[in-house]
Amino acid sequence: MFLSSLKRILLQLAFVFFFLSSAHTAYSVPLILEDKSFYTLSGYWEILTDPTRDLSVQQAVGRSDWSGPFNEKILNLGITKSAIWIRFFFSNKTDTSRKFYVSFEYPAVNSVSFYSKSSHGGFQKEQTGSSVPASANVIPYRHYLFPLVIEAGETIEVYMRMQSYSGMTIPIRILSDQSLFQKTIRDYALYGALFGFLALVLVYFIAAGSFMHKKASLWLAAYSALFGIHIAARAGFIRLFTPDGLLGINDLFHLLAIGGLYFTGAKFFRLFLSLKTISRPLDLIMAGFQYLSILFVTLTLFPNPFLTVISFILFVINPFFSICLAFYFWRRGVSNAGYFAIGWILAHLVSVYDFFRINGIISYPAYNEWLIPSSLLIALIFLSVALIRQNAIDHLMAETDPLTLLANRRKFDEALHEEWNRCLREQSPLSLIMVDVDHFKNYNDSFGHKAGDQYLCYLADVLKRYTQRSGELAVRYGGEEFVLLLPKTDAANAFNLAEAIRNYLGNSAEDTTNHTPGKNITISLGVATTIPKKEEKPEILILETDIALYEAKRAGRNRTIASSAFKT
Ligand code: GH3
Ligand code: MG
Ligand code: MG
Repeated sequence: MFLSSLKRILLQLAFVFFFLSSAHTAYSVPLILEDKSFYTLSGYWEILTDPTRDLSVQQAVGRSDWSGPFNEKILNLGITKSAIWIRFFFSNKTDTSRKFYVSFEYPAVNSVSFYSKSSHGGFQKEQTGSSVPASANVIPYRHYLFPLVIEAGETIEVYMRMQSYSGMTIPIRILSDQSLFQKTIRDYALYGALFGFLALVLVYFIAAGSFMHKKASLWLAAYSALFGIHIAARAGFIRLFTPDGLLGINDLFHLLAIGGLYFTGAKFFRLFLSLKTISRPLDLIMAGFQYLSILFVTLTLFPNPFLTVISFILFVINPFFSICLAFYFWRRGVSNAGYFAIGWILAHLVSVYDFFRINGIISYPAYNEWLIPSSLLIALIFLSVALIRQNAIDHLMAETDPLTLLANRRKFDEALHEEWNRCLREQSPLSLIMVDVDHFKNYNDSFGHKAGDQYLCYLADVLKRYTQRSGELAVRYGGEEFVLLLPKTDAANAFNLAEAIRNYLGNSAEDTTNHTPGKNITISLGVATTIPKKEEKPEILILETDIALYEAKRAGRNRTIASSAFKT
């Protein structure tokens, strides 16, 4: 209740400012049509409100309570049940007949009637709106366009009556043939690019979702598709393609798309950020917003006083809350929240803005038509990057040991097969070094598991430093066991490398001045080298390296033993 009275007060304030900002004159000046290719109605239009929605055009003409003319280029009156009349006058002061189009550029308005009257004749009426089939438009399959031919020296009066369940936003421009042509090309090119890009990212989101079993990606696909439908409906495209018989359900379809948009958006938000694992209460709040969108659709179908409050929560509080949350996670360094937050903020700030615009609280600038499509475009770019990045990180983590950040065994198996085949083709030697820490159990027991972990990380860094050539790979093979994969390395070089590592660790362990973890720790190493043969499998090389390591242990540890298996 508080919110609805707040909304009423804000609306009234908006109206007061709106009327104060407009020049009041007792009569209207006609818009003089010269050689320009388009005109706005700024300074020329007047408004009449018809709360009972039953005025005829003759009654409207006779009324004395018209207000204006207004200086706005676009009128934005918010949500109103009243029918709104506007009027303006044209004058052709040139000496040739001119053709113009009155272009009404907000296709969400349900009904638009257009009355024109030349100096010598009665009113001509044309009718369009979202409830009229596109085939029956004044210019079929075009948005709300009313052609006007004005003879030389003629003045024409125009009256337009509008009614809408959505916001009463009235962007009208007067376009020449050429200007209409340019606008058409521009609009279709921009919308074509937008929907083309949308189709592309949808393929990516769905493919990533299905092949990588990523639910968030599939929800993002649904969210983006619904966002696209919302934009298409708002720009009047859905109506152009709707069969005449189904026109009645168009508004319902758009409503379902908006409800679905907020539902899938919240679900995507929760999944992408793994909200449940970060904070259960926050996840519950977002789930609340998610299900509120179903309530919103239901309540819209059955008019009731809660709708304003629900809409305010869903379209203002929900986006603000999730924007703050996304931003907060970003600042806190939650993995991958940065790109996501920017995409999310862009997509949702604009929808908050549009809520206030629909309610007449914020004015409607000329570029508003492109605000929502561009917010979707930029949001999709950032959300795609966030998703690609998350997939890349997941992919990397699946091949990485989390403690030492070396490759894990899975990555090793893959790389070993690859290098085995390469060396088989090129008939070059392939070596493995297996490293195992000596008496590491004792070390853990004496200094604690944490110190043990520190030593493993230190050892991993050293091993990484010694395997920098292309194709070489340092791997954490098991607990305190490591493997070095060394393609194009012969037995002598592999042995020397193993000894170099062992000596380096030995020296640093003796150096009492540095802060190397693991003083007095030694390692044992097994080395095996082969030139791969067709009939052998790479596992044989692992086995021989393991045997060599075992021999090194048996021979007293802190040494390198090279396998003799392949020497014959
Ligand atoms: P040796 O290899 O010389 O025969 O003796 P060892 O004590 O190193 O061998 P063993 O295989 O018996 O024990 C390996 C120990 O490594 C057991 C476990 O405590 C330790 N270890 C394995 N993984 C980790 C780890 O991730 N962190 C720490 N701190 N210790 C680990
Ligand atoms: Mg071991
Ligand atoms: Mg060991």
